[in-house]
Amino acid sequence: MEKKGIKNWEKGSSIIKSGEKRTTVRAVRATMSMLHKQLNPDDDRVVIPLGHGDPSPFQCFRPPVAAVDAIVDALRSSRFNGYAYPTGFPSAKKAVAEYISRDLPYTLSESDVCITVGCKQAVHAIISSLASPGSNILLPMPTFSMYDACSAVCGVEVRHYNLLPEKEWEVDLHSVEALADENTVAIVLINPGNPCGSVYTHQHLENVAKVAEKLGLLVIADEVYEHITFGDTPFVRMGAFALKAPVLTIGSISKRWLVPGWRIGWLVTTDPNGILQKSELMERIKAFLEVASDPTSFIQGALPEILETTKDEFFSNVNNILRQDADIIYEKLKKIPSISCPNKPQGSMFVMVKLDVSLLDDIEDDTEFCLKVAKEEKVLILPGSALGMKNWLRITFALEPLVLKDGLERIDGFCQRHSKVV
Ligand SMILES: *Cc1c(COP(=O)(O)O)cnc(C)c1O
Repeated sequence: MEKKGIKNWEKGSSIIKSGEKRTTVRAVRATMSMLHKQLNPDDDRVVIPLGHGDPSPFQCFRPPVAAVDAIVDALRSSRFNGYAYPTGFPSAKKAVAEYISRDLPYTLSESDVCITVGCKQAVHAIISSLASPGSNILLPMPTFSMYDACSAVCGVEVRHYNLLPEKEWEVDLHSVEALADENTVAIVLINPGNPCGSVYTHQHLENVAKVAEKLGLLVIADEVYEHITFGDTPFVRMGAFALKAPVLTIGSISKRWLVPGWRIGWLVTTDPNGILQKSELMERIKAFLEVASDPTSFIQGALPEILETTKDEFFSNVNNILRQDADIIYEKLKKIPSISCPNKPQGSMFVMVKLDVSLLDDIEDDTEFCLKVAKEEKVLILPGSALGMKNWLRITFALEPLVLKDGLERIDGFCQRHSKVV
């Protein structure tokens, strides 16, 4: 066997292989598995998962019964046992167009929508279709690491713009301008924000759109936490500013309906100028989706019912619990000297908090803090360094409030035990 032949399959264009670019998703996975290894089997307290966001195990975060019925009905009807259509069933696309249009000053049509396997596949479809030699993409710091990983797989260089903790995690528009160049293909904006719990104002989104317009950037608006807000700022869609810069809106039912395992989402051209609809980019995205796997037919079949019939009461109940959780975490962390929370979370299910290791004995940094909290308290927290922010912590608060309280008490006890004697 010639060595040459072997080399060919090692030539892939992905930039993952350079050690430097080892992706943050891997860092998150590796960190979480390291944390799991610390858990003490002789400690019979329950594990409190503050590391990754999946509220579905908790009784108080069950999906609406009507949504479950819609799935059962779709399945029983035998109408959705076949293959789905590429980019989705027309009925599902129409329902998403109507759903997103509720929050926009213009009306979308079925042809603006592609149905995807969760928001994640929408990200993959877009980034792989934007990739070209030398291309780069602007992602937030702190980041949602799936974007970094996807960019690495697709061979797109990542540049991180800053989010400003002192300004409620707004986008540092100066850093965006400083990073963008002629090879920048898009800016990703996550609102409501994971991991910061931020919700951007109308004014701020307009400012982002102005900068995108000036730099000629496509905006990828990740609105997977749409309407999951419980502070003073209402949710506004980035697509409302699409006359300035073209916007691709992506989302799913994973978070708002509390069903991340159902795997259905969307990719929508929110662009009243119609530039995107006719673009080669959309042709490439559709070609990608034709090759990719489709969301399960009966979930697509149930989607119109799910989007149309879920009662406001369901959403406000969830937001009320999350508001309670946000209050609990903010008040509790205020009392722990070595941890500070720049803002009370206003949306999503996450918050970034700062760790001051100088107040703690025998704790070097955020990673050691998280390892020891896992070992001594059976509480899992993601160290910020896994996301590129050393001595920060990412905490999810989407737990049953009593469980969250228990977790925070344990963190408090841990910090007291490890605090420096002055
Ligand atoms: C959870 C999440 C996603 C992925 O959503 P799925 O619908 O589960 O694929 C994308 N973006 C952000 C910011 C998320 O938190």
